[in-house]
Amino acid sequence: MALKLFNNTGSTLYFTEWGASLKRWFILDKNEEQINIVLGYENDDLYKTNPLYLGATGGRYANRIKNGLFLIGNKSYQLETNNNGHHLHGGFKGFSRQKWSIENQSNAQITFSLVSPDGDQGYPGKINVQTTYELNDQNELNINYKAISDTDTTINMTHHSYFNLHGQDKDSILDHLLSINADSITEVDTDLIPTGKTLPVNNTPLDFRKPTKIGERINEHFHQLRYAGGYDHNFIIQPDNKGVMKLASELVSKRSGLRMTVRTDLPGMQFYSGNFLDGKYNGVSGNPLYKHAGLCLEPQYFPDSPNNEHFPPTIIKKGREYKHKIIYKVSLI
Ligand code: BGC
Repeated sequence: MALKLFNNTGSTLYFTEWGASLKRWFILDKNEEQINIVLGYENDDLYKTNPLYLGATGGRYANRIKNGLFLIGNKSYQLETNNNGHHLHGGFKGFSRQKWSIENQSNAQITFSLVSPDGDQGYPGKINVQTTYELNDQNELNINYKAISDTDTTINMTHHSYFNLHGQDKDSILDHLLSINADSITEVDTDLIPTGKTLPVNNTPLDFRKPTKIGERINEHFHQLRYAGGYDHNFIIQPDNKGVMKLASELVSKRSGLRMTVRTDLPGMQFYSGNFLDGKYNGVSGNPLYKHAGLCLEPQYFPDSPNNEHFPPTIIKKGREYKHKIIYKVSLI
């Protein structure tokens, strides 16, 4: 059975058990034409190894952990170092590259589950995780993450779709308008590891407090942009007085007439402008996926939190449930 969700307002989404990943999100644009707003592979087999993490569930720890090392109490753990001597997105065979089971499925909801054994990719504890996708007629995709471990451990799950609101691999995202509800970012070093400091976005090309074209400042000579070859930063999301589900970001394509909002109860959001896409893999329409073919808006805990005590904590206690939520909502401008 095709793993798909659909609603009465023009959205159809396809998934795969590999990485509990979103493969396509078809939606009606301003001309009532169906376009696919997420990048996917032309070759379906690539979801098994998902080199670009397209549409994937990131974990156990999404984003980077310095040298793959961290402590819980006075016990140290060495994770796999799959990125430049550091740990990225849960290791060589993190959640994105494992086959999940389907717990239940309807037209509106699908739940994937995974059991990650003690020692998986170096992490302590056997952990049971669930990712639930829920679609409604307001074209809101609700993503719920749950996890429970039999030992104290660390976790940070996120969603890794590359969005392009013009429609799949049709031109770059550089002329999309983006806003991010953040006054500061967690500063990174040349390896994209947090320095531990926060950096105010004021007077920098990282200021997206007002809607701004992504390409407008991306080539400015600013150290944080140079280190990442574009945007690849964790923005600290501001509370917005609307409860736990804060408005984190808004993305607009004038061409398709679509707007996407991102809400979350998580404290940060990685904005990644697809800088490392190099044309090696083809998108759904057969076009190579080049730099800036899509962008990720990944609500999450801050990178390398286990090594930064002043960041919101990511150590979960044995038996205590981890529960977080992301909502992507697409509407006409
Ligand atoms: C990270 C990038 C990384 C990419 C891999 C993003 O979440 O921020 O640095 O290269 O994932 O697909």
